[in-house]
Amino acid sequence: MDIVIDMKLDRQIAKDRIMGRRLCVNDNNHPNNIFIDAIKPAGDKCRVCGGDLKSRSDDQDEAAIDQRHNIYYDTETGTTAGLLFFKDVSAKNSGMPRIIELDGKNALQEVSADLMKQLDKI
Ligand SMILES: [Zn+2]
Repeated sequence: MDIVIDMKLDRQIAKDRIMGRRLCVNDNNHPNNIFIDAIKPAGDKCRVCGGDLKSRSDDQDEAAIDQRHNIYYDTETGTTAGLLFFKDVSAKNSGMPRIIELDGKNALQEVSADLMKQLDKI
């Protein structure tokens, strides 16, 4: 493994993004989220095409989201434990694998630009 990407995101923000997601009935690629200003729906309609919006039932299941996040953010046995393992390997192995840290609370374009900038340095 050459690179590990750590996209940091506060747990509450991650939950809000999931629960705020709305799907356009005309096109699932039309991003709408009631908690993200840049892609906030136009009232109760799709911000791109004006179509009706719906939400996925599993996006509204707070207990299920919490369960998934408990696994992800667990530093002993979860996904985060894997990240910490590779950070430890990197620290003991002259920076290999490379660790790229991204601020996931930024807008998609900013996160993408930051990732590309950091990859260019490699
Ligand atoms: Zn739409």
